[in-house]
Amino acid sequence: MESSKPHAVLLASPGLGHLIPVLELAKRLVTHHGFHVTVFAITASASPAESQPLRSAASSKLLHVVELPSADISSLVDADAAVVTRIVVMMRETIPRFRAAISAMKVPPSLMIVDLFGFEALEIPEFDMPKYTYVPSTAWFLALTLYVPTLDVEVKGEYVDRAEPLQLPGCKPVRPEDVVDPMLERRNQQYLEYMRMGVGITKADGILSNTWEDLEPTTLKALRDHKAMAQFAKVPIYPVGPLTRPVGKEEARGELLDWLDLQPADSVIYVSFGSGGTHSSEQLAELAWGLELSQQRFIWVVRPPIENDPSGSFFTTGKGGEHPSDYLPEGFLTRTKNVGVVVPLWAPQVEILSHPSVGGFLSHCGWGSTLESILSGVPMVAWPLYSEQRLNATMLTEELGIAVRPEVLPTKRVVMEENHLRERAKEVMKSGERALRKGGSSYNSLSRVASAAISFHKSTGAP
Ligand code: UDP
Repeated sequence: MESSKPHAVLLASPGLGHLIPVLELAKRLVTHHGFHVTVFAITASASPAESQPLRSAASSKLLHVVELPSADISSLVDADAAVVTRIVVMMRETIPRFRAAISAMKVPPSLMIVDLFGFEALEIPEFDMPKYTYVPSTAWFLALTLYVPTLDVEVKGEYVDRAEPLQLPGCKPVRPEDVVDPMLERRNQQYLEYMRMGVGITKADGILSNTWEDLEPTTLKALRDHKAMAQFAKVPIYPVGPLTRPVGKEEARGELLDWLDLQPADSVIYVSFGSGGTHSSEQLAELAWGLELSQQRFIWVVRPPIENDPSGSFFTTGKGGEHPSDYLPEGFLTRTKNVGVVVPLWAPQVEILSHPSVGGFLSHCGWGSTLESILSGVPMVAWPLYSEQRLNATMLTEELGIAVRPEVLPTKRVVMEENHLRERAKEVMKSGERALRKGGSSYNSLSRVASAAISFHKSTGAP
């Protein structure tokens, strides 16, 4: 490693929705801003789905990737602890290894960016360098996260029991039924961890978010200028999105893409619920019947049902040995074999969404999937499951106008036939592409972060 180049270290928390955009951010620092980058990836499961992006990032030779297997937290949290509790504790327990690895580096870093769940790394005292938090979601989610300690004082009782929306100064209010998972139950440990995070992520020189100026102008303005909101953000906000994994190389093509080649343009709906989403048996059956009745062409990424846990495969992405015929309605696979493809566990999502035959995406509205759909100009049907996905679904349907709700399942047909949704999706796609281009708002935001780090690097006497 040449010591003349500034060195950045990035810390990604578990989950593909975190790892993928952190790797993309890292690549941008290398290719556009001349950094050496080391990405620390804390992996929760050794699933092929999770290792694939790490392997391809490592083999690209652009980045130095260090995998830190997550600490064993079984004695620290209950077996049924909520996702946020588990991730925050996992990060807390793994940070000492991150700290030791940085201290041992021959070329000390001049920039540290930590994914939001790793916020405690921002307070490691000996790390004297520009430090930033990275929030892989929207500015609206960020505003809610920063404001939750205030809501905690203002609001009595459970948020979900309120009749009125929660007011966020200068931002769209949040409907009680849309609150993020950690706010569903105030006595749950994940609520306390989430509130600590709302304060902890501001102990940085700035906060990067996977959004862009033109997507959320009002919320970004409130975070910067509205007195009652900006006092909680405390530090500058840098929208650097939309950061998503680009389409892979030709050789990644498989049978699925060959099948798509044979379908008419915009005729296929892609159905997938991210890396962690799962359904109950009843929901799976409902979805299967809905697809079959709609006679719509489809690709459906399925996972075995898990009752009462919509984030059931978050820590086990892409694992499972059952065949879909073991849990889908009897005869479904045979009856739909001419119109649809069922893929167990995991599919090459970016390649599918960007294929011209795909005209709609029935999605859990994870922010990574949403951005991938936006950058392919594909409208969505919103079926949020957990985390901040209900907020995302509301923004997509009511504000951006690029998604509809599946109130009645045949809407899956409607989304393909509604031209205004598709036109709107293409407009949002263009705005995202503009933001990323050289001179675009997100490009410029990241340039400002890079400049601060380069100045620091020079101040240390580096050549
Ligand atoms: N993903 C994929 N194939 C799948 C499911 C998910 O490639 O079958 C990728 C998807 O492209 C996205 C990420 O996994 O980049 C999921 O991130 P997102 O934020 O949408 O959701 P999360 O998994 O965090 O709920």
